Amino acid sequence: MGPNRQVLLASRPQGAVSPENFRIVEVPVPEPGEGEALVRNEWLSLDPYMRGRMSDAKSYVAPVEVGAVMVGQTVGEVVRSRDPGLREGDKVLTSLGWQLYGVAKAKSLTRVDASRVPASYYLGILGMPGITAWFGLFEIGKPKAGETVVVSAASGAVGSVVGQLAKGEGCRVVGIAGGKRKCDYVTGELGFDACVDYREGKLSDALRAACPKGIDVDFENVGGTILDTVLRQMNLFSRVVVCGLIAEYDAQKPYGYTALRSILVNRIRMQGMIVFDWQARYGEALADLAARVSAGKLRYRESIVEGLENAPAGLIALLSGGNFGKQLVKLA
Ligand code: NDP
Repeated sequence: MGPNRQVLLASRPQGAVSPENFRIVEVPVPEPGEGEALVRNEWLSLDPYMRGRMSDAKSYVAPVEVGAVMVGQTVGEVVRSRDPGLREGDKVLTSLGWQLYGVAKAKSLTRVDASRVPASYYLGILGMPGITAWFGLFEIGKPKAGETVVVSAASGAVGSVVGQLAKGEGCRVVGIAGGKRKCDYVTGELGFDACVDYREGKLSDALRAACPKGIDVDFENVGGTILDTVLRQMNLFSRVVVCGLIAEYDAQKPYGYTALRSILVNRIRMQGMIVFDWQARYGEALADLAARVSAGKLRYRESIVEGLENAPAGLIALLSGGNFGKQLVKLA
């Protein structure tokens, strides 16, 4: 077995993330202590929040230290257990980060059932991104039948789920995505009513055409010019779920929003969300998402890079729209 390989944070990015910000090292496979298990990671999730953790700007969690293993969730297999609650061969959800093997307290590992859905789903539609979509939409967006819901980064891990859930509530659902391929997928496979390609033509005109009755809920994953444009077309007493601002993560100075007046005159309610705030209720979201997945009511797509050494390139691609669906690294 082994050796273990790890991707470390080598330096903090100034602006866009580059391969030089990472370093790959080989170290011995660790031994589990009492109450711990050794896990061989099979899938590593790449997520936009990782850009924030590479920076030491003040945020809702501490940054990764320079020289430490990059943070991240994985799904893997228990290869040695020193806890009665876990057996060799169990598939588990972990926070072991960007490495092939890791040791964790058994209590920090969540056993997952990979017999009915692929194990990788627990990093996406049946994991943190799916849960984010569920609580953000239902608890903050609160869509009602007949309303118009706009979702940015619509083909992605969170956006794709948000839009399909909103369709289920009887809303008109309009996605915003980069490029024709993604837009065709959003309207075809995912069943959104329309999708606007923000890279093509004038966003405000295309959005107005797609939302003839204005916008009641904006599920915001992108920020910057996209959010600024959406805000101007929001209705009276509409809601904005501020889930992510990926267009701003590399920025070295704040984006200058110009549409604040729309928030005032339309009495728009805008609320930030961090998925952890619902930790005590994750089970509720997961049970509903799992039921929809098994009933074939939620479509889902993964974007896979092979090998730990390609994780940095995978994250760099994700941060500029190079992914098409939930971004994963296949490790084993
Ligand atoms: P996605 O699978 O949606 O991938 C990211 C997508 O963002 C890209 O595919 C790209 O889509 C889009 N994008 C990247 N850069 C830009 C840009 N400059 N302008 C416009 N679009 C861009 O990622 P996730 O679903 O995992 O995450 C979506 C958002 O949700 C992120 O902002 C993330 O930070 C946030 N999030 C927040 C959580 C919370 O608790 N608040 C939890 C989980 C995610 P395209 O090609 O269509 O532009």
